[in-house]
Amino acid sequence: MKAIINKLLFGLLALALLSACGTRSKENNKSGEKQQKIRKEVFVPDFNADSAYRYMEEQVAFGPRVPNTPEHAACARYLVSTMKRFTPHVQVQTFKARAFDNTALNGKNIISSFNPEEKQRILLAAHWDSRPFADHDPDPEKRNDPILGANDGASGVGVLMEIARQFSMHAPDIGVDIIFFDLEDYGKPETMQANVEHDWALGSQYWSKNPHKINYRAKYGILLDMVGAEGAVFHKEGFSMYYAHFIVDKVWDIAHEIGYGNYFPMQTSGSIMDDHYYVNTIARIPMIDIIHYYSGSKSGFFREWHTTYDTMDNIDKDVLKAAGQVVLAVVYRE
Ligand SMILES: [Zn+2]
Repeated sequence: MKAIINKLLFGLLALALLSACGTRSKENNKSGEKQQKIRKEVFVPDFNADSAYRYMEEQVAFGPRVPNTPEHAACARYLVSTMKRFTPHVQVQTFKARAFDNTALNGKNIISSFNPEEKQRILLAAHWDSRPFADHDPDPEKRNDPILGANDGASGVGVLMEIARQFSMHAPDIGVDIIFFDLEDYGKPETMQANVEHDWALGSQYWSKNPHKINYRAKYGILLDMVGAEGAVFHKEGFSMYYAHFIVDKVWDIAHEIGYGNYFPMQTSGSIMDDHYYVNTIARIPMIDIIHYYSGSKSGFFREWHTTYDTMDNIDKDVLKAAGQVVLAVVYRE
């Protein structure tokens, strides 16, 4: 297995500090006047995009993962059993939520923890459900059909499954919780006029009000959404900038440093309502969203967004690699 070693050079500020009375000890003279550099090597595993792609194929093979359907239930079982291969600490948070049309939805947030006893934690997340209606399909006949959600759903989850597999082989120093949020994409269809608020991202809203652990805290979170489409780039998203500017800077800087700068332009996009909004505003954990913004479409998203064309055909392994490798580097540098 290949591995990437990032050499972090920490310049040690070796100037001797003068004491208040202007004298310094002999010891300080010896070690302090030599400018010393400490080299710290950080091991970062090599993200395997083929593996992430396969985890996406396996999700999509269930068909649309629409809440309250057998396909959704079967995919949940698959996600839980696969994550259990990577960590024994997998929890399913079952809950009920009301959809925009008053349907009672059975939700399942799936939470996999690494180094559960570690106090310093990072939260990684993606949504695993897929949208019940292709309301942006070019064919009006298909706009009530559910979508396969290869990019919109399965890509973020596939990348995080591969990250989990890497964790199982080389545990990171920090604690990590990977959450697959449910019921993200059951918001009211575009054609519906009714004024409904907060009808999207029901799983993250539930978790933010009821975290899987009492007094749960994480230093920060990273959400992945639509991280697989051909031609994708990830702009600095508005809510991420507002709530967690320092994490955006950290992630984008690392992306540029390790050679994925072309996927992470130093440009901002508008603010996108996504699971991270609720983690920021309800759970009060600073969380960013790595999400594909595409200025060339009216929606701001990839061309096949919320259509029946959101299939594996439009997935680019190089994009998965960029997203996955950057997140791995961020985690292992903590
Ligand atoms: Zn969606």
